[in-house]
Amino acid sequence: MSAEVGTALRYVRGRLAPMATIVAFHAHPDDEVLLTGGTIARLAAEGHRVIVVVACDGDVKDGPEQGRRLEELRASAAILGADRAVHLGYADSGHGPVLYEDPPGRTRFARADVEEAAGRLAALLAEEHADLLLSYDPHGGYGHRDHVRVHQVGAQAARLAGVRVVEATVPRELVVRVARPLLVLRLLTRHRLNEMRGYGMPQSVITHRIDVRRYAGQKRAALAAHRTPVSGRGRSARAFRLLLRSPLPVFRAVCGTEWFAEPGGRTGELVARDHAAGPDRPALVRKFPGRRRGLGCVKMVRWCPNPAGAQPWARMRWLPGAGAGWERRPRRSCSRRATCPR
Ligand SMILES: [Zn+2]
Repeated sequence: MSAEVGTALRYVRGRLAPMATIVAFHAHPDDEVLLTGGTIARLAAEGHRVIVVVACDGDVKDGPEQGRRLEELRASAAILGADRAVHLGYADSGHGPVLYEDPPGRTRFARADVEEAAGRLAALLAEEHADLLLSYDPHGGYGHRDHVRVHQVGAQAARLAGVRVVEATVPRELVVRVARPLLVLRLLTRHRLNEMRGYGMPQSVITHRIDVRRYAGQKRAALAAHRTPVSGRGRSARAFRLLLRSPLPVFRAVCGTEWFAEPGGRTGELVARDHAAGPDRPALVRKFPGRRRGLGCVKMVRWCPNPAGAQPWARMRWLPGAGAGWERRPRRSCSRRATCPR
């Protein structure tokens, strides 16, 4: 769980920086790009560990191409700089009026038991020692049943694991402003303006507005990795293609901001620079000898994130080679409890 293990450190541009672990929970492959792609790229570029989790595999019907959308997800996550992409094990529920039977061996996410799904996600949050969960607002953005379920499961998993949750959303006022001309031009037919007034969240409750214009190129490349939805025949596929073919400055203008609402209304940075040093987290991060990259390089990170009391140390070991990185070796008991600030 997030509160059990200390902040890890990672080399970012030759500098040792505090590293948080962020789990971005989404409904389907491609949602990770559309809603949080720039934020993922930015957090990864800042040296944080990002895990992308999708509830559904993106296949409404069984067919020869089953599993392809998960492959596309892995490609997209790699482009964004995420460390890992995980499928929670559910099937897509579709957006139409009919909720199809469950495919063999899998449950459609809309039928999933919230407690069970939240248990799976909470186990992953614990395994990854996550500091932050990105989930969806209560309407799941635009009311897709799998997206609404992501909100419910995300909220419950965050409670179970004791992890801070921040919900991806869009400003409702902006949706209406953009939708009006699109409806007049008949570029948007499936949604009604009255329904759309309920999409996203009111501007007043949005707590984080993330500028991701710098990561527009990465976001566009990650979207292009989702070949199945992009090459489809529907209206959304055409919109995807239009976005992908647009010049980068246009893409940047359209997709250069991402929004989040944190229950409880906490504002400020999504992940603080020294993310362990939040107001309720009197953290002490100390670097130990062995900062140089090299075999056997070991450092220890100490913090005390949990108001409940002293917390363990995290022991780090530098692993050289192709997949070089700091391996986190959590320890259950604090070996220097006497010096712990708590
Ligand atoms: Zn979706």
